[in-house]
Amino acid sequence: MVVGESGLGKSTLINSLFLGDLYKNRKISDVQDRIEKTTTIEKKTMEIEERGVKLRLTIVDTPGFGDAINCEDSWRVCSAYVDEQFRQYFTDESGLNRRHMQDNRVHCCLYFVPPWAHSLRQVDLEMMRRLHRKVNIVVVIAKADSLTAAEVKRLKTRILNDLDEYQIQVYQFPECDSDEDEEFKQQDRELKAAAPFAVVASDTVLEIGGKRVRGRQYPWGIVDVENPRHSDFTKLRTMLISTHMQDLKDVTQDVHYENFRAQCISQISQHAMRERGKLKRDSMGNNTDVVFTDTDRLLLQKDEEIRRMQDMLTQMQQKLKASDKKHDSIIDV
Ligand code: GDP
Repeated sequence: MVVGESGLGKSTLINSLFLGDLYKNRKISDVQDRIEKTTTIEKKTMEIEERGVKLRLTIVDTPGFGDAINCEDSWRVCSAYVDEQFRQYFTDESGLNRRHMQDNRVHCCLYFVPPWAHSLRQVDLEMMRRLHRKVNIVVVIAKADSLTAAEVKRLKTRILNDLDEYQIQVYQFPECDSDEDEEFKQQDRELKAAAPFAVVASDTVLEIGGKRVRGRQYPWGIVDVENPRHSDFTKLRTMLISTHMQDLKDVTQDVHYENFRAQCISQISQHAMRERGKLKRDSMGNNTDVVFTDTDRLLLQKDEEIRRMQDMLTQMQQKLKASDKKHDSIIDV
C-alpha cells in the first residue's frame, strides 16, 4: 500500500521499483476535484519476476491523501481497507474454501514523507498512529534528489526521533542470523542504517556510459535512481521483493492479523454470551419448557467458566494495582 500526498512521486516510484507502467492512463484531478475529494483507493495488480520466481503483486494506491483541504477521512479509508482485507481472510479461513484462499492482506505500507518537511507533520503522525498496529509501515522520504546529503541525514534523524517520541511502531528489521555470511551481514547492517529510505524515482530511461539506467536528467547532471550514492532506491527494492518479503508477510500473519483475529473472536464470544443470557432469561420468564440440547448445556457451562475466569482476572488486576500503589508510595517517601 502506498500512502502519501499527491505529487510526491508514489506512482513513479512504484513503476520504477517494479519496472512497469501501472499508471499510464491516470487522470490528474483538477483543483475543484481536489478540494472535494476524500481519499479513494485504487488497486492494481502486476506480475513481476524476481530471480526466476514469479510474484503477483497488488499495489494499493491512496491517490487523494492530502489533496482535500479536509484530511480528516484519509486515515479512515486506509484503515478500513486494511481491516476489510483481514475480515475477508478471517471469513475465508473459517470457511470451507481454505485451500483456495487468496491473501489480499496488506503486507507493507510505504509511507511517503515530503522532502520539504522538517520532521513528521501532524498529519503524518495521525495517519501512522491509525495504521501502525495493523500494517508494516516503511517510511520513505520522497524526491530525495531535492535534498543535499546533509539535509537527508538531518531529516532521517528527525523522523526517527519523532517515531520514537510518539511511539509509532514502524516495521522493525529482524536480527540477522549469526550463521549468515559476512557479505549478507554487511548488506543487512547497511539496510538498517539507511532507514527511513530516501528515494528518487523516475520513469525515464537514460544512457550513462553506454549503460541504460532509470534516471533524472538535470542541467548539471544525471541522478541514477539505482546508484546507492544517489538514493536508497536499490536498498528499498531489495528489501521489498527479496530479502524481507517473507518477513513482512510473517509479521502481518503473526502480529497484525493475530491482533485482528483475537478481537474478532472476543467479539464473537461476547455476542454468544449475550445471546445465551437472553435465552436463559426468556426461558425463565415465560416458564415454558425450553429444551436444552447437550450442546446448549455445554456452551452454558463454558460461559460460566469464562465469567469465573474474568472475575478472577479482575481481582488479580485490582490486587496488582493496589501493590503498585504501595510501591509508588514507597518511592515517593
Ligand atoms: P503521485 O501523485 O504521488 O503518484 O506522484 P507522481 O508519481 O505522479 O509524480 C509527480 C511528479 O513528480 C512527476 O512529475 C514526477 O516525474 C515527479 N517525480 C517523481 N519522483 C520524483 C523524484 O524522485 N524526484 C523528483 N525531483 N521528482 C519526482
